[in-house]
Amino acid sequence: MRRSNALFLPLLLSLWLPVLAASAESLVIAHRGASAYLPEHSLEAYALAYGQGADFLEPDLVMTADDHLIALHDLTLEATTNVAELFPDRARADGGFYAVDFTLAEIRQLTMQERVEPASGQARYPERWPVGAGRFRVVEFNELIEFTRELNRATGRRVGLYPETKAPQFHAEQGKDIGAALVSALLAHELPTEDLPIFIQSFEPEPLIEIHAAHGDRFDLIQLIGLNDWDMNTVDYSAMVSAEGLSRVAEYAVGIGPVFSLLLEADAGEPLRPSALFRKSRELGLAMHPYTFRREGLPPETSLEALLDLFIGELHIEGVFTDNPDVAVQRRSVVAAQE
Ligand code: CA
Repeated sequence: MRRSNALFLPLLLSLWLPVLAASAESLVIAHRGASAYLPEHSLEAYALAYGQGADFLEPDLVMTADDHLIALHDLTLEATTNVAELFPDRARADGGFYAVDFTLAEIRQLTMQERVEPASGQARYPERWPVGAGRFRVVEFNELIEFTRELNRATGRRVGLYPETKAPQFHAEQGKDIGAALVSALLAHELPTEDLPIFIQSFEPEPLIEIHAAHGDRFDLIQLIGLNDWDMNTVDYSAMVSAEGLSRVAEYAVGIGPVFSLLLEADAGEPLRPSALFRKSRELGLAMHPYTFRREGLPPETSLEALLDLFIGELHIEGVFTDNPDVAVQRRSVVAAQE
């Protein structure tokens, strides 16, 4: 899925605008399903995202005690399930109910819910699905593969999967190789195929480098980029976004998944412009799939629609991670109709 970068040279941008729009339609990546509307990572959220026209369904993956991959964002279960109620004595000393301490059979007994802040029990996003309403359950990655494949067969669409290896360093400390587990699952299903494309994403470079070394270009790899301030691992993202760091990324990845603010910059009082990271990625032919487009936490005076129009219509990025696939699909059509 490597895209030609020849058309993206800044000098040609205005001249080639209609060509750009026709050849580089932004992918809509449903972040944890249509998670603005139904609990993240539930099969219901994925079904809704599929129906809303998403091109890719995105699961975060963690491993169970018995080495199954499940769709879960946190390493622990308490923010999105009733684990504390069902298995009250299974927390570690830090209070966390780690998925890796539970078997798949145990995790299947849990009910999933809209995300809460564990300290307060209050909804992270109060405007979303009510906490505790409905009966949702944790989805195994194999199940999501079959679900997507069958929906594609039934509809004739070619929706893909976009799995993320969550916290590879942590999994290694637990004696588990999550990158290898993901690749095994995909190979067991003979993926990717033209009908069910795959991107593999990771915040840590090592699993991607290893997958690339072992499997060459079979899998399209996306290097996620965070901020060092988030303190989520030992990766130096400042070094990664330097010209040298990004050239290294281009050796194994087809693209980057940065937080969207990293693709823009501005001097005081000046309008926003594409950042050095944006320009360098274009030069290297790296696709850009920024995250996360949702109504919550927007920059001041900005709507989700305006932000999507900027990234899809003006920056022509190759994909967006969004909690609102319906809005992204709609803005993509509006932008295309204007060009
Ligand atoms: Ca993710």
